[in-house]
Amino acid sequence: MEQNQASSKVNLKDLSLKDLERFLATLGKEKYRAGQIVRWLYQQGATSIAEMTNLSKHFREKLEAVATVSSLEIVTVQAASDGTKKILYRLSDGLTVESVVIPEKNHPTLCVSTQAGCRMGCAFCLTGKGGLKRNLLPSEITDQITQAIHKLPEGKDINNIVLMGMGEPLDNYDNVVKAIEIISSDIGLSFSGRKVTLSTCGLAPMIERLGEDVCVNLAISLNATDNATRDRLMPINKAYPIEQLLRACKDYEMPRRRRITVEYILIEGVNASVADAQRLAKLLRGVRCKINLIAYNEHPGALFKSPSAETIENFRKELIRHNYTAVVRKSKGREILAACGQLSGQALQK
Ligand code: SF4
Repeated sequence: MEQNQASSKVNLKDLSLKDLERFLATLGKEKYRAGQIVRWLYQQGATSIAEMTNLSKHFREKLEAVATVSSLEIVTVQAASDGTKKILYRLSDGLTVESVVIPEKNHPTLCVSTQAGCRMGCAFCLTGKGGLKRNLLPSEITDQITQAIHKLPEGKDINNIVLMGMGEPLDNYDNVVKAIEIISSDIGLSFSGRKVTLSTCGLAPMIERLGEDVCVNLAISLNATDNATRDRLMPINKAYPIEQLLRACKDYEMPRRRRITVEYILIEGVNASVADAQRLAKLLRGVRCKINLIAYNEHPGALFKSPSAETIENFRKELIRHNYTAVVRKSKGREILAACGQLSGQALQK
């Protein structure tokens, strides 16, 4: 069981349902109490044990002596003209992380962080520049969702969760899996596995494990069609080259009708030619996937350039010609640095 770093008490939001049942057993309490507490934490958004009024006063006092309920502090909410909102949260040790609410046609999507910083060092990403500060606890991952749902006007409409913010989710495996269990549990945050997507830069062995442990959508950030280019853009490729990554994708367990999302950031002069599109089509043969094309977001100090609209369209058409579903995803929230690869947990970092 993990404990809140700021306290010797157990943080109830860091416990899975099973952990909570075991913890309550040590207090002489029945299993069903765990379900009651989980509903308070995630469905009612309770921020203290005192609020859990269907537990007896005596039990609440007993629980308060040994356990606590954490809550992330919202520092700022910035809104972009396209409706994207970036939420800056302060963690209990003063570090900050960001979530992004992305307006979609029907319901907003919430993009959540899994680490403060990141050690993967992708060349096109601002988050990776400062390195990894630390892994987020399960409570710090799920609380980004609870807070957005309960504090933002559009919160109740959030319909999709993407683990695609700051950090590499599979580099914080145990905490992320615990958070996913809460996110997708009927008595927790109740997002079905179909509505939860984990995006990875390509930790191939962990992809295999993930498919065995939980049932969520998988997105991989590919961004190159040969190992030399991918080594340069994404150093993780030196450990797990393209062939190994795509083998893990082919083996990833998911329901028959679901497909993996392949994310491909198009960078002028690096990976955006028609020849690249042809190589990509060949590489992805046998992977049940759809392809999201994203124009590189130039940001302060950016090393690369975005391609022209014509280059992007030619790339997309080539993939369509090879019978792939390929969509150009418009980056939202650029002006507030909330777009793909731009999150940095700005300001207030320790
Ligand atoms: Fe880390 Fe993702 Fe940025 Fe790569 S793209 S450095 S994995 S946050």
